[in-house]
Amino acid sequence: MALVNEHYLKLKAGYLFPEIARRVAAFAGRNPDARIIRMGIGDVTEPLPPAIVEGLAAAAREMGDRATFRGYGPEQGYEFLREAMARDDFQSRGADIAADEIFVSDGSKCDTGNILDIFAPDNKVAVLDPVYPVYVDTNVMVGRTGDADANGRYAGLIYLPATAENGFEPELPTERVDLVYLCYPNNPTGAVASRASLERWVAYAREHGAILLFDAAYEAFITDPSIPHSIYEIPGARDVAIEFRSFSKNAGFTGVRCAATVVPKSLLGRTANGDRIPLHGLWNRRHTTKFNGVSYIVQRGAAAAYSTEGRSQIAGLIRFYMANATLLREGLQSAGLEVHGGVNAPYIWIKTPGGLSSWSFFDRLLSDSHVVGTPGSGFGAAGEGYFRLSAFNSRANVEEAVERIRRILA
Ligand SMILES: *Cc1c(COP(=O)(O)O)cnc(C)c1O
Repeated sequence: MALVNEHYLKLKAGYLFPEIARRVAAFAGRNPDARIIRMGIGDVTEPLPPAIVEGLAAAAREMGDRATFRGYGPEQGYEFLREAMARDDFQSRGADIAADEIFVSDGSKCDTGNILDIFAPDNKVAVLDPVYPVYVDTNVMVGRTGDADANGRYAGLIYLPATAENGFEPELPTERVDLVYLCYPNNPTGAVASRASLERWVAYAREHGAILLFDAAYEAFITDPSIPHSIYEIPGARDVAIEFRSFSKNAGFTGVRCAATVVPKSLLGRTANGDRIPLHGLWNRRHTTKFNGVSYIVQRGAAAAYSTEGRSQIAGLIRFYMANATLLREGLQSAGLEVHGGVNAPYIWIKTPGGLSSWSFFDRLLSDSHVVGTPGSGFGAAGEGYFRLSAFNSRANVEEAVERIRRILA
């Protein structure tokens, strides 16, 4: 009989969202008339902008015509999309990234996991706590950790707490670290990294030979012009960072699927005997061997995000979600809650009132206001005592949720 990858058996059985679903279903069963407002899951709610729909539709028509039909495309992505990204996402912000350093993919979730293919198992990995669970679970799967403790923390991983006490600005690691996952704007806390904070990370990585894995999935939600959108806006970052980009949250591609990973040509790793190896070539090899490219139709849809109409329609979507975030943040703050995030990110990170645990506050909000959020403890031990609400919802739902929560806190 075939042996299984036993590292999978260490994974905590997808606890968070199934447990939320179980509690909501039980409540709905007992209260069939309750109109439950779901503000838990980080998925967009608005339809695709018309410029993108037209980009997709025009490409679909090309595929139906013998003269313009296309089969396999370049695994790394079509030039038209890589060029648009290099120009608009990086060069226009002073970040020195070329089109051939960008690898188009079907999602950042996959890329943040797949990137581990090109790193040795004995690298030391640090994550922020609370954390996007994908970074942790993919390291468990490849065998880089021991078992999880009662708080869900895996032996062998280094957790860097980001809490209100340290202003969501984690301490630099004090032990040896080779890979550091950073996510800014942050899911789940909604925190952003200032230029000074990113400079500190880049300096740390350069000094210690560490590599930053920078997840910029929410960069489009940055409203403060002083906050960098890309790690490559920091001089020297080209030599120490990989960046993950996604069309999911800005252009509403959670169901369409398109993203990109940037591996600069100047980024090096080393072999056990000290040779320096460019990671670009390794990732190119991995990507072209295990992936056959994002569909032409989808890449045309993504490229439409860079047209004049596309940009202005996406800006409209972001404004809509961020107005939701403002309503949540200000409404709940004036009801007496301690609220973080929601200024440069579509997530509101609430300190639970009266020292309630994250799950107790979840139960209270569900039973008394019929609002569903996400317990902070589900994102890591340092998330205990916090609660996440998402701004991805209709205006009417957001307004009603704020009213209902204010009523139970009054
Ligand atoms: C939503 C999200 C992504 C995007 O993932 P896709 O696979 O591109 O949809 C990436 N990182 C974080 C932290 C996210 O919340």
